[in-house]
Order: sequence, then C-alpha cells, then structure tokens
Amino acid sequence: MMRPIDVRDLLEHPGASKTVRVEEGVPGLHTELADVREEEPIEGDLTLESVLDGVFVHGSISGRFTMRCARCLKEFERDFDLAVQEMFARQPGPEDDYAIDPDLSLDPEPMVRDAVVLEMPFSPLCKQDCLGLCPVCGGDRNLGECPGHDTTDPQWSALAGLLIDAPEVPTDEDAGPSRHHAES
Ligand SMILES: [Zn+2]
Ligand SMILES: [Zn+2]
Repeated sequence: MMRPIDVRDLLEHPGASKTVRVEEGVPGLHTELADVREEEPIEGDLTLESVLDGVFVHGSISGRFTMRCARCLKEFERDFDLAVQEMFARQPGPEDDYAIDPDLSLDPEPMVRDAVVLEMPFSPLCKQDCLGLCPVCGGDRNLGECPGHDTTDPQWSALAGLLIDAPEVPTDEDAGPSRHHAES
C-alpha cells in the first residue's frame, strides 16, 4: 500500500511544489493474463504542485508485469514505465477523479492503480510471432514439438473446415449412375 502524502505545506503556499519518491507494492492489480505482483514494488518520482484548486501531480512510475502468453500460455515478465499527470481537487466536483483527503493528505495509490490497469495488455504475447500451441497434440509449436503436424496450421484447418461444411449442390453435370443408365 502506498502511504498518503501530507500536502498541508503545499496548500498553504500556492505555487509551491515538491517531489516525492514512491516505492511500494500495490495489491489487487490482476487481469486474466497479466498482473503486477504485490511483492514487486511500483516506484517513481511524483512532482506535486500547489495550484488554485488543489494539487497537480505529475511524474513517471515503473514496475514489472508478470504475464501469460495468450497463445502458448508461457509465463514471462515485462517492465513498464509510464507517465502520470492528474489533478487532485481540494473541493472535488462530479468530474474530479481524485481528491485531497479531508486530513489534507493525498493518496497516490488510486491514480497509480488506474494508470497501470490501463497499461495492462489484454492479450499479451511472449513474442509477436508466437506460434502458440498445436491444436492437435497441445505441443508448443515454438519449440517444434510436433514436427508431424505441418497441416494443422490454423489457417489450413479453417479452410479444411469450410470445404467440409460446404453443402454439395447437385448440378446437371453431376450425373448419378442411374442417369448414365438412362442415356446409354
Ligand atoms: Zn507465446
Ligand atoms: Zn501437434
């Protein structure tokens, strides 16, 4: 959990600013195929500026995603580094996403959480051209685990499915044995 930042000094001095280092694990950052482990700290330097309506916060935060490849299911990690800039309103209205707490502190965690969740990949890939798993035997096709399955390329199976499903429309030239009989 990130600690709230005391901003009393800033609020008393419009125009003042300070830079605060954050470095904490943040719980609950999970999606189906990606997460930021709580033991992996999210860190960064945030600059807080005292402005008319509150405190403007900007800076960059970095951390590490642990992800599972959407095609081959292999687990892998990727570092992230992203910019944040948000207004923390002193007297929040309906359109303010973040607010200064009544005790005149500012909790950076909801802002960090929102920024990281937006950055989490919906369909992570271990590499852009990941070949995924073989639909026949489940082998990792990146490792060539099923050399005998050349024709199980997804495109080919889709095509094969289409050919099988296509209804057979009889035509005049599609003469059955009985018709051959009749003509001869
Ligand atoms: Zn993969
Ligand atoms: Zn296979």
